[in-house]
Amino acid sequence: MKEGIHPKFDRTTVSCACGETFETGSTRKEIKVDVCSKCHPFFTGKTRAIEAGGRVDKFKKKYGL
Ligand SMILES: [Zn+2]
Repeated sequence: MKEGIHPKFDRTTVSCACGETFETGSTRKEIKVDVCSKCHPFFTGKTRAIEAGGRVDKFKKKYGL
């Protein structure tokens, strides 16, 4: 048995720009995302959560609004 050969596949906390955090399985220690299923307009139908996070300008640029 040797250790350290395979990356550790563990529970990882994903942090979203809206403040939402959730867990997923990953070899990375932490993940940061701009949108998640809780705040993405595709899922919510509105941008309120993103505006609350103060990143609406970046969001608009990103999507050319
Ligand atoms: Zn989010």
